[in-house]
This record gives sequence, C-alpha cells and structure tokens, in this order.
Amino acid sequence: MLRHILLGALIAWPSVALALGARVVERMCIPASGMPLVGKPAPMPIGCRLRGCLESGAFDWRISIDAKILDGVELRFDQFGAADLKQLQISGHARIDGDRIVLNSGDSRIDRIPDKVRGTVNFVSLSPIFRKDVPVVLKSALSSSGVTPGKGIVDQITIVQHDGLEPVNRFEWNYVFQPCADSSPASGAAYDTLRIEGAALGEKLDVVVMIDARRRTPSGAKECQQGGSVRQDDWVQRFTGVSPLVIPINNLLTSGRCNSEIAVFSGNHRMYLGRAAWTDQPGDVHTIKLQPRIVVPINIWYFKDEDKSRANDEVLVATRLFIGNRVGIELEPKFHRLSEKETEVIKQQKCKAAVAMKKMGRYIVNALNVYYVAEGTDRNCAIVETPGKCETSDKHPRGDGNFTYLGTISAPFTLAHELGHAFGLRPSTCWGHVNNLVDAFGLENVMYADTFEAMLRKRFTLGQVFRMNTQQDKWGGTMLIANGLRSESDQRACRPNSFSKHCPLLNTDLR
Ligand SMILES: [Zn+2]
Repeated sequence: MLRHILLGALIAWPSVALALGARVVERMCIPASGMPLVGKPAPMPIGCRLRGCLESGAFDWRISIDAKILDGVELRFDQFGAADLKQLQISGHARIDGDRIVLNSGDSRIDRIPDKVRGTVNFVSLSPIFRKDVPVVLKSALSSSGVTPGKGIVDQITIVQHDGLEPVNRFEWNYVFQPCADSSPASGAAYDTLRIEGAALGEKLDVVVMIDARRRTPSGAKECQQGGSVRQDDWVQRFTGVSPLVIPINNLLTSGRCNSEIAVFSGNHRMYLGRAAWTDQPGDVHTIKLQPRIVVPINIWYFKDEDKSRANDEVLVATRLFIGNRVGIELEPKFHRLSEKETEVIKQQKCKAAVAMKKMGRYIVNALNVYYVAEGTDRNCAIVETPGKCETSDKHPRGDGNFTYLGTISAPFTLAHELGHAFGLRPSTCWGHVNNLVDAFGLENVMYADTFEAMLRKRFTLGQVFRMNTQQDKWGGTMLIANGLRSESDQRACRPNSFSKHCPLLNTDLR
C-alpha cells in the first residue's frame, strides 16, 4: 500500500519537491582488459511528475558533471526524434549527437524540455560514456588519488530541474568505479560453454545469467554455488552481444546434492528457468533458447476520464520498469468504463467488492483487473487484509491477486508497485515492502512504500524479479502463473524474506 501524506504540501510549495529528489549510487567494476559491463540506463521523469504537482509542461535542466573516469554521459529521450532535439535550447558542455545529447564534464543547461510529447509521457534515460582506455584512466586516477585501490573513484552527476526560476526536482548520481576482482569467468582451457540464443539469428541480446551448480573451488574442493545463505549467493553475471551468445564458464560438475539450474533475465524475453545437467568433464555445451516477452492482459476499470488518462500513463511507466528491470513482461491494457454506482461499491467494500464486481460482470476472470476508483489508498487484494506482522501473516486468508484498486491521486509508479504485490511480492510485512531494508535496496526500489523520498522508483532486484515470475504461496502465488502465462512447473515457494538453494536472496542483483 502506498501512502500519500505529502501531496498536499507538494502542491502548495514546489520547493518541497526539491527535497524529494533522489541520490543514486551505482557501483561498477572495470575489467583490466577493457570495457565494463554497463548497468541499466537510469530512467528519469521530467519535472515533478506527481499528478497535481506542477502542470507547466516544460522544464529547464541545469546539469553539473564531475567526471574523472567517464568521458561523459548520454541522454536519450523516449519520445524525441532527432528533429525534436533541435527544438531544445542547449548550452555549456552539452551537444546533440544524432538522436541523443552528449554531456561532458562541467556545467550545462538544457531548456524547455516538455514532460509530454504528442500526448505521451516523456522520459529521459541517462547512461555513462566510457573512454576506450578506461582501465588505464582508472589505474592512474587510483594511484594519484592517494586512496587505497578498492575504495574506488567517484564520478558525480547532478541534475536540477527548474520550473521557471523555481527548482522542482534534483537527481544525483554517484558512479563508484573500481577494478574488477576477477575479469573473466573462465580460467585456463578447462571450461564448459553456455550458449544463449535469441528468437532470431543475429538478434541483439542483453541478458543477466544466474547459475546454480556444483563446481570446484580454486583450492580443488567441490562445493555448491547456489543461493541458500547470506554469504553464499548465486553466481550472477551480465552478457551482451549478438545471438547466439557463446559464453565460456568454469568447468561445472555433476550436481550431486547441489541445485543445478540456470535462470536468464532479459528485457526483451520472458525469464528463462531450467535445469542444467553438467558432467565432471570440461567441454559441456548447454543451449538456452529465449522466448519473447510475456504479453500480460490488464483490464483497467474507471469512471472518470482523468483516471483513464492516469491509468494509461501508469501502464506505460510500469511496462517500462518491467522491461528495464528484466521482468520479461509487458502490459497490454484494455479499458472499461464503470458507472458511478459501480465505483461506489468498490469505495465502500474495498477488496471485498471483488465478489460484487464478478456478479455484475465487471471483472474479467483469469486476468488482472485494476480499478481506478477508490479513495485514499491503493491495494492489491491477494490477501484480504494486510497482515500487521510477518509472523502471523499465515492466519490471513486469501483474497484475489487479480483484483487491485487504486486511489484518486498517486505517483506514476503506483501501478508497477501494486502489480509487484500481484506477482507475489507479499506480504508487505514479510519484505514485500523493502522499507526497513534500505542498505540492500535503497529508496529507488519500486517496492519501497512511502512516496516521501521516492521520486525515482526505478528498480526491481533480480531476487524480486525471480519471485515475480515464480512465486507460490497460500494467497495464489504470482498471477503470471495463476493466469496461465507461465508454466506451473516454474513455481517456487520463495517468500520475499526467505531464501534457500531454490530461492535467491531478495537483494540478489548485479552490484
Ligand atoms: Zn505496497
């Protein structure tokens, strides 16, 4: 459930929004041999982006970059072609390069950035640009900085968004660069091969691979590399390239008592999960064929036109977050108008209104149904009443994970958050919400549950994404499986706060 205690204040004093900006720390390691594995581009909302906050439509950005390692950063606008970019006023250390803006170290301004283009929400993605000789640059920066290697060099990017003279939003990225401890997953010639194929030959792939297997340690002992303890988490690595990806990995062994399994996460493909049978000899080749993203039907029920348009925005934001975080799904909305009387039933009965809606035929079975009608709160109804404590949550009866209602005012990522619950990140008190786990997740996690600090909710961890695709619990599990969009054989009883050899830690991620 999201709360909206600050919205009144936001409308009255735009400068309060400034305090809501986000500070994000990204850690990256630079392999001795060349380019680092770059994380997801950071999507950034334009302007305040809280409904009712500001409706000026265009914002001026003041950007300051302190880059010791990076060559600069690039900005790409979701809804802008090269011709649109030319309409912007750009000055300082910024320039247009085709369909992107390149920013170099120093101060720059980009004025009059619209928050909507041709009726569609405009987003900016920010990605770092590296020099070709980045390992050399890092080495020399580390040796001249006086800090011990391992602490890293920090590049900083600050963006302050202005509405006229008024600063309305501030974002700060700190990129921490360190040399990679182990630049290659393979050593010597004794390796196995993982081959990952896209749907089409030559398709561009960008995947994260999670492997559980039995392997030999450098000292020669055999051990399980799998989730199951805080100290020993799954092996996770990102690979990019053109299909097929042929990845050499250390010789993996027959499974014994270990879990031997591979999960592949991709923005453009559904999550792959399958068992892998390795032999004790090197030279095994395991082939994985990725399937297209799951298209998830979602029924949006509304009474007011403004709720329909808000829902449309939130579906777009949610789909973007699901793709960017490699959940492997996209939403396909269908809009249905309710009568005012029908909305009253939901306002009064909340989750219990599911029964009445079904009776009235205002509910599509085996699909997500989201009602933009209630007041104050937002809820996914997988559990009829929110458990107050994790320990006693099992006493709470099952509701309907396909039934969600949303309040009249909210942040753009609200739908993504509630669908996180629908897909099994629950109960909120058992780490379905990550509020008390700030060290591991940060305020940018979509399942952080106060609007207070979170202008920039953008992340699901791989541990969360794994559960969204596989969850099995007494409240119906993930609706992806309940609605027949994934196979029942993928089911895993992995509550957010539990881990085992079959369940990665919730904060397992590329960090
Ligand atoms: Zn919630």
